[in-house]
Amino acid sequence: MEIQDRYGRSFKTLRVSLINSCNLGCIYCVHSSEQKSTHTNPKQPLDYKEIVYAIKNIHALTNLKTIRLTGGEPTLYKDLISIVKEIKSLGVDNIKMTSNGYLLKNLLPELSKAGLTKINISLDTVDQENFNEISGKKNLERILEAIDEALKYGIEIKINAVILKGINDDQIIPLLNFSKSRNITIRFLELMRMGPLHETEDFYKYFVSEQKILNCIESEYSLTVIEREASATANYWVTQDGYKFGIIANESSPFCNDCDRLRLDSFGNIYGCLSNDSAISISDVLNDEIKLTEKLEEALSHKQELKFTGSAISMMAIGG
Ligand code: SAM
Repeated sequence: MEIQDRYGRSFKTLRVSLINSCNLGCIYCVHSSEQKSTHTNPKQPLDYKEIVYAIKNIHALTNLKTIRLTGGEPTLYKDLISIVKEIKSLGVDNIKMTSNGYLLKNLLPELSKAGLTKINISLDTVDQENFNEISGKKNLERILEAIDEALKYGIEIKINAVILKGINDDQIIPLLNFSKSRNITIRFLELMRMGPLHETEDFYKYFVSEQKILNCIESEYSLTVIEREASATANYWVTQDGYKFGIIANESSPFCNDCDRLRLDSFGNIYGCLSNDSAISISDVLNDEIKLTEKLEEALSHKQELKFTGSAISMMAIGG
């Protein structure tokens, strides 16, 4: 029988963080005190076989519809292609990935052959200097090229852009136009009070609301709102010339009430909610259906009723 809470919520989407390090050091994601964008953890990360085993056993108990591979940066994970193949063999409908796109281009042929269906590419700016300011990296063109290349492989792409006051809020229209010209859906993200931004002044310093993002887009386009789909993370609008874009607004329009997401980190911990930082370790119970079910029920009980509060969980470790 399906694990459900009293609101009828269950887990249908599993986000798997394959690795807790990243090749970018985005200012809102990485602690300013961190030299390198790598998180330490006293535990050993799961090895390849353990990750596959965890995914299989969670799927057996929840009948997942979607598995999203994330990180850290999933393209840094050496067995990425094999994991996609393993998931494909489980018969899960949607195999997706979230990536910063920096190392993506050369992986596309194999990822597409292995069965990856969709990629969310994180792109906060189309301006090289601004990219350097946000991520600490040069060569923005690597990401832009990967986006165009992915389209050639018929992989569905979405762009995710976190908007930060005074940093890239002047990029809303350029990002929208970049995506529109390629007929790629972009979703603008409200900043989330996670990890280094949890309970800090910096969160308020950088936060840009859904309404402010909309006001900016409405200065160029007239918009019609689209009805929200169940369990969707984003609200969507369509421009007068038929282009659809979204805003993921955890703060302004929380979507907890029908959230179906479960997260597994690279150390074998599951999380039922980004607003609850209790790590539930499943690495020792993978062979035990009853105990694994109990852990999944515990994770489900962590879901909020309505309000996103954020937590100290690092997005670098959990992957968004
Ligand atoms: N490295 C991959 C990437 O860049 O897409 C996957 C992991 S990254 C943590 C996933 C997403 O989380 C990215 O789109 C990133 O911009 C977003 N993110 C990280 N910290 C965030 C925050 N505090 N608020 C909103 N989004 C955040």
